[in-house]
Amino acid sequence: MATPHVVVIPYPAQGHVIPILELAQRLVQQGVRVTFVNTDFNHERVTSNWLDKDSFGDLMQMVSISDGLEPWDDRSDIYKLTLSIMQTMPHKLEELIETINKEDSSKVTCVIADDCMGWAIRVAKKMGIRRAAFWPASVATLASFLSFPKLIDDGIINEKGTPLKEQTIKLSETMPPIKSENLGWVCFEDVALIEASFLVVKEAEEASRLTDWFICNSTTELEAAAFSLYSQLLPIGPLLASNRLAEQAGHFWQEDQTCLTWLDQQQPCSVIYIAFGSFTIFNKTQFDELALGLELSHKPFLWVVRPGMTKETTTDYLDGYMERVGSHGRIVSWAPQQKVLSHPSVACFMSHCGWNSTLEGVTNGVPFLCWPYFADQFHNETYICDIWKTGLRMEKDDAGIINRGEIKSKLEELLSDETYKVKALDIKIKVTSSIREGGCSNRNLNSFVEWIKER
Ligand code: UDP
Repeated sequence: MATPHVVVIPYPAQGHVIPILELAQRLVQQGVRVTFVNTDFNHERVTSNWLDKDSFGDLMQMVSISDGLEPWDDRSDIYKLTLSIMQTMPHKLEELIETINKEDSSKVTCVIADDCMGWAIRVAKKMGIRRAAFWPASVATLASFLSFPKLIDDGIINEKGTPLKEQTIKLSETMPPIKSENLGWVCFEDVALIEASFLVVKEAEEASRLTDWFICNSTTELEAAAFSLYSQLLPIGPLLASNRLAEQAGHFWQEDQTCLTWLDQQQPCSVIYIAFGSFTIFNKTQFDELALGLELSHKPFLWVVRPGMTKETTTDYLDGYMERVGSHGRIVSWAPQQKVLSHPSVACFMSHCGWNSTLEGVTNGVPFLCWPYFADQFHNETYICDIWKTGLRMEKDDAGIINRGEIKSKLEELLSDETYKVKALDIKIKVTSSIREGGCSNRNLNSFVEWIKER
């Protein structure tokens, strides 16, 4: 029997590439052949930082197609990137699949696309190929995407996705509310950006109707109410939890493994881990205040300061900062986050609450200090603080800053109250049981693999 051959397409952002590449690796482990299609720009970064990539032999092939922009173009310009992707990539993907089918002995049997690349599902349908959509964020966020026609009907947003007024949305009685200004596509000040992002939402909703499977990197243990809204959404996550000590792949930056040795030297459950994902940007005042808050708290900390995390800073923080902090603090530009969060020295996670970071904290039983920046991160904060009760939120002062005093006092509150850790361990057990043999996410993933292997 011919080997099934799946083409996998991530949305070109860090928080999207990591989980879908994990899924791709699972498929390869099950004997499925995978062609993983990054944009040219990300392909370079992912392959140069993935030392282990040849371990899958011929079954995993990393390829790339253009996103239509020049190498030097600014890809944080979402407006430009989104329109360029939609214009260029459908045609390029079709060409790629045609080439594989012509030149390769194993033809493409299935396309798995991030639902934010809904056009790829359309391409697969047009080419008569079986297809699956993958959702890397919370299902609550996806539910808000899929509900956009109702939001228009209810007068919450206009036809182009812009909220008509600020209000709180309840997608169902049992789901936590979402503020209209925190809808996934509304997080930009600029109306043109909202409208460009809304195009992605519309494509995602259309794709949900064209796809054979819709698999989500979440679990009913975390989001029962959101899953109950759309029966076609199947939990298969958290994907990384069952593989968390394996080498993670898909990173845009090189992981600094030396911080693990530093963690080995710390007391159990003593270290604050601080990381804000791949694209949060701090202004200088807020950055300095965080540095001072950590210094003031007198607790060991491991802090990820990504290149470009502030527009102004390099690694020269405040005058004499590192000398003052000494071996108490460790700063890296990109951490092996999975391994850090599963390290016994880590006491809590100060996080922007991106969905992957949220899942990684949850599956390691780590309490959170929440510091969301935009969009779904606020909803994830609601889950953490109000539903799962495994963390605390931070409050801004009158100047709109989370100041050093707030950082110090919330850290003390979180670390002195055992109930957060107890709840975190409790939810860890529930969530990890869903990905173990016989658990709901595990069974769904197995059925999905079986479907892929069907002739
Ligand atoms: N990450 C990492 N090292 C770091 C910071 C982040 O490996 O120093 C990973 C993290 O484990 C997660 C991803 O980057 O898998 C970030 O995704 P998330 O959804 O949390 O945030 P986003 O970057 O999309 O805002």
